[in-house]
Amino acid sequence: MTQDYQDNTATMDGLIFGAPDMLLRATIMGGQARIMMCRTTRLTQEASDTHLASDVATAAIGRILSGTAIVSAMLKEDKGSVTITFAGDGAGGKVTSVGRGGNLKISLENPQAELPKLNGKQDVEGFIGRNGRLTVIKDMGAGEPYVGASALVSGGVAQDLTQYFAVSEQTPSLIALGCLNSEGAVLSSGGILIQPMPGCKEKTLQMVEMRIPFFSNISRELYDRSMEELLGAWFRDMDLEILDEKPLGYKCDCSREKMTGALIATGEKELRSMLEENDDVEMVCWFCRTRRVFSPDDIKKLLTNAQLPREDVDNAAD
Ligand SMILES: [Zn+2]
Repeated sequence: MTQDYQDNTATMDGLIFGAPDMLLRATIMGGQARIMMCRTTRLTQEASDTHLASDVATAAIGRILSGTAIVSAMLKEDKGSVTITFAGDGAGGKVTSVGRGGNLKISLENPQAELPKLNGKQDVEGFIGRNGRLTVIKDMGAGEPYVGASALVSGGVAQDLTQYFAVSEQTPSLIALGCLNSEGAVLSSGGILIQPMPGCKEKTLQMVEMRIPFFSNISRELYDRSMEELLGAWFRDMDLEILDEKPLGYKCDCSREKMTGALIATGEKELRSMLEENDDVEMVCWFCRTRRVFSPDDIKKLLTNAQLPREDVDNAAD
């Protein structure tokens, strides 16, 4: 976010370029490299509103959700999901995001943590932390999930994901992520990943590297231009082929049923102590902040009917 641009935010209505959130896939040079690009402005606003996030948290949310959208679009299975955890030593604490199909969600330990700006920019690195671990879990919907991890490089998100791809997946990649936001309003958020495919020529890599400056302020670029227009301009002489475009949204898949399962998992002892207090038990989903209330009667039913953990298997129906 540049200083002169921030000064203009007062005249903006927040979404002058009202394009929907999308994930676009493309190739260049006859498939020698693949491109994933996304616009996440609206869903980042929704995530920010859901968590009553500070501006620095929102800047981190936009970057992380864009990265998650891109990584989950790389899964071969449509039913698969990606869970990315940033466990760093920053003010924001642990941050976990999930991408499934085009549905994204995020939870943050300290979404309201504020940090002063650094050189006019949101201090995303201070929010995530410069030391810690990035973990990526890919669940294909069947079989054992794939778990990869790498050390955080800077907490700036794009650098950390680049490192993850290099270390954990042995894939060089160029990643740029950005979020342009101010005083609770998300003006533009999104990102791009470019990865060479097997057989990619050195010349192609050089041509991609020459274009790195184009992506240095990706959220500003996405603010008032479509992804097709941007890619068309950046890769004019590189045989750009746009493959498809899919919608993205902020969506949580939690339910009362799943929360009941979490309650049951706390065990009989815990449930009995809840019952003794004879008060409603309120559970909150940390991704969408939905509150669900379980009455003492509900707890009593669980104790009577549910199959509680650490008990002999009795096949009781729940
Ligand atoms: Zn939820």
